[in-house]
Amino acid sequence: MFDNPIFIPGPTNVPEAIRRAMNVPMEDQRSPKFPELTLPLFADLKKVFKTETGQVFMFPGSGTGGWEAAITNTLSPGDKVLASRFGQFSHLWIDLCERQGMDVIAIDVDWGEGVPLEEYARVLEDDKNHEIKAVLACQNETATGVTSDIAGVRKVMDDAGHPAMLYVDGVSSIASIDFRMDEWGVDLAVSGSQKGFMMPTGLAIVGVSQKALEASKSAKCNRCFFSFDDMIKTNKDGYFPYTPATTQFYGLRAALDMLLAEGLDNVFARHNRMAEGVRRAVIDGWGFKLAAKEPKWYSDTVSAIYVPEGFDAAQVISIAYQRYGLSYGAGLTKVAGKVFRIGHLGLISEIQLLSGIAGAEMAMRDIGIPVEAGSGVAAAEEHYRQMAAPIAVAAAS
Ligand SMILES: *Cc1c(COP(=O)(O)O)cnc(C)c1O
Repeated sequence: MFDNPIFIPGPTNVPEAIRRAMNVPMEDQRSPKFPELTLPLFADLKKVFKTETGQVFMFPGSGTGGWEAAITNTLSPGDKVLASRFGQFSHLWIDLCERQGMDVIAIDVDWGEGVPLEEYARVLEDDKNHEIKAVLACQNETATGVTSDIAGVRKVMDDAGHPAMLYVDGVSSIASIDFRMDEWGVDLAVSGSQKGFMMPTGLAIVGVSQKALEASKSAKCNRCFFSFDDMIKTNKDGYFPYTPATTQFYGLRAALDMLLAEGLDNVFARHNRMAEGVRRAVIDGWGFKLAAKEPKWYSDTVSAIYVPEGFDAAQVISIAYQRYGLSYGAGLTKVAGKVFRIGHLGLISEIQLLSGIAGAEMAMRDIGIPVEAGSGVAAAEEHYRQMAAPIAVAAAS
């Protein structure tokens, strides 16, 4: 089979530099040299999370582990949590909170929209006794390709004078879409290695504010593997309470070097450029709809695409895989069979995305979906040509 790039929204394609960086012999995680690797990782992760006052933890795990770490370290069973559900990932974090015994006020929102700021404002203003301890927001709902306004969530909390902590699922946004932990007053920020960090799955990366660290001292949920406290004791010297994912740290070193060398603003702009090409293909080329209902919700890391009524999006995915060795993201639960997803997060080029768009066209045509061959590709091409670096003027000879 060909070694095609994958077009799923996580794991992303792992850049060669990162793969090579992880090809290292095993080493002693208690050696005096180990902190030379780990301490700079903590410092550089803080740059990516944009926090100076907070602390960043790395747990072996995936994003789900990061959700659990955030909740169990800082809350007690029975605590009131405000959250909203508009896709599979925002749903799963609510489910985790409920299984941990939280009393969740879950606002259901149409899939295709994001965090409902007005409803949040209303609930927070009505909560005069400040019983709500946590406000959850999924910054980028990967199931629908919807990005929410986290600065806006902070604003409604401040306007209501509400002291709850702000918890952000940034698994498919941090390191690819603008995120500002300190400026937005985010208390818990969750990410994972296989999305914006372009690495294999294996690290849950969690940013924690001083306020959240303070709350963790009295929070009563049980935690052991995900204990902030145990991490704090050893992390300060560059060590871990149990065997860390050493190999991953080398990958993370390479990923952080790439991200910081490019500059975060350039990384975000690149994701926007790549995403917009896909959107042009879907909307202008194919004449289809995105799951994201309005441009303000458009995600720069994943596009969820509605196939026309009467066709099965799951079939597009299965044909693409069988016939062309291409992988697209499936529609999850509520939108299963209705959408397929093209992931454009991590390091993916215009040309790779054009091939992903072309493959989707082929698979759609194979099952009779009326799309004109090359229509999406042509629309995306025009965007990528316009946005590419200016043509260098040849020096006169
Ligand atoms: C991928 C993802 C998760 C879950 O992360 P896992 O690594 O699969 O555990 C959570 N939230 C969002 C928004 C995601 O995209």
